Amino acid sequence: MDALQPQAVMCSYCKARPAAGAVRTLEAWEGRLTVTWHDKRCPHHLADRVLAGKEP
Ligand SMILES: [Zn+2]
Repeated sequence: MDALQPQAVMCSYCKARPAAGAVRTLEAWEGRLTVTWHDKRCPHHLADRVLAGKEP
């Protein structure tokens, strides 16, 4: 079985890249692992935090 290699996906909204101040979300999707980088204030990232129950 192949090891899961995270596939980097660029967020279509904030287009953040791996850098200081960026945050990432990991997602398993159809047997693949993807990592998406976001700006800290990207609404996509904020939505992920709400879904994860880390924000009220
Ligand atoms: Zn984003």
